[in-house]
Amino acid sequence: MPFRPRYTGLIDKYRDRLPVHDDTRIISLGEGNTPLIRLNNISRQLDKEVDIYVKYEGLNPTGSFKDRGMTMAITKAIDANSKAVICASTGNTSASAAAYSARAGIIPFVLIPDGKIALGKLAQAMMHGAVVIQIQGNFDDGMRLVKEVAEQAPITIVNSINPYRLQGQKTAAFEIIEELGKAPDYHCLPLGNAGNISAYWMGYNEYFQTGIVNQRPKMCAYQASGAAPFLRGHPVENPETVATAIRIGNPQSWDKAWAAQKESGGWFDEFDDQDILAAQKLLAEKEGIFCEPASAISIAGVMRDVKSGKIPEGSVVTCTLTGHGLKDPDTAIQQCTVQPIKIKAELAEVKNAILQNMG
Ligand SMILES: *Cc1c(COP(=O)(O)O)cnc(C)c1O
Repeated sequence: MPFRPRYTGLIDKYRDRLPVHDDTRIISLGEGNTPLIRLNNISRQLDKEVDIYVKYEGLNPTGSFKDRGMTMAITKAIDANSKAVICASTGNTSASAAAYSARAGIIPFVLIPDGKIALGKLAQAMMHGAVVIQIQGNFDDGMRLVKEVAEQAPITIVNSINPYRLQGQKTAAFEIIEELGKAPDYHCLPLGNAGNISAYWMGYNEYFQTGIVNQRPKMCAYQASGAAPFLRGHPVENPETVATAIRIGNPQSWDKAWAAQKESGGWFDEFDDQDILAAQKLLAEKEGIFCEPASAISIAGVMRDVKSGKIPEGSVVTCTLTGHGLKDPDTAIQQCTVQPIKIKAELAEVKNAILQNMG
C-alpha cells in the first residue's frame, strides 16, 4: 500500500518508553522525526575520513528541540489538572511553552531577559498569547524567580528541571540510533542549561541498556567563552555571548551534564563569539543549512576536534543543530558582508548584475 499512517508526534511514536497512559490526552504539534543530514562539503574540506551528520532540530514545530520536551511537559501538566505553566527562557523555551499552551488551552507565563532575546522567539511567544514578563536581569535571575514563585502559586514549571522535559528530549537519541542503525561514536552539542546533554545521554543509555545497540557515543559539549561555567568549574556571574540561547551562567542540570561527560569519556570545550558566527555562516554557505548561533557551536566543535585528531578518522559523528537560523535574523544579517545589489527595474541592469556575479 502506498500510504503510511500520519505522523502524530513523538509521544505516540515512543509511547512505551515515556511516562504516559493509554488514556492520556496528548498535546502534540507533530514534533520530532527531524532529518539527520550528512554533511558533504564541510567533511570534504576537513580532508579527513569522518562521517558527520547533523540532527536538524530547527525543523521542529516552533523551530527548536525544546518542542520535544514541551510536548511531554504540557501533556503531563494537563494530566495533573494544571491551569497555568511558567518558565524562564532565553527565548526558545518561551516560544515552545507558548505554542503548546495555546494548543492545550492553558496560560503560559514566560520570564525573559530584558533586551537579550532574539526577535523571532519573542514574536512567537507574543503571537501564541503568552504572558511575557521581561525582567531586568538575565536567564539565571529568571530561573531563580520561577522556582521561587512556583513554590507559592499553583503553577507548573516547564523548564528542563521538569523531569518530563528530559523524557521527551531523550527521543532525539532514539531517532539517531534508528537512522544510523547504531549509536554514533561522538555526539557534539551546545551546552547551556545542560538539559539537552542530559536527555541525550539518557536516551543513548536506554537503547544501550535494553540491548538495542552495543555502544554509546562520547558526549562532546561546547560553551561560549563568555558563558562557560563548565569550563571554569563554577557558575559565572554575568554570562555574555552573541549565542543568546546559551547565555547561561548557572546551569540547572550541572551534575547530570558532568556525569554524561565523564561516563561517556567525552569532553567540554569553549569557543568565542567570532568562531561561533563563522561556523554558522560556513554551515549556511557550504551545506545550505541555517541554524542559530548557539547551534553552530557544535559545528565549530566537531571541526576543531576532527582537525586536531581528538576525533579520529573513521568516526561517525552526530551534531545537534538545536534551533533554526530564522529565530535570530538580526544576528544573521549583521554578519553578511555582501549587501543586496540595488538596481532600476530594467532588464539591462539585471543582466549586468548577473554577469558581474557569475564567478
Ligand atoms: C535551549 C537551547 C540550547 C541549550 O540547551 P540546554 O538544554 O539548555 O543545554 C542550545 N541551543 C538552542 C537553540 C536552545 O534553544
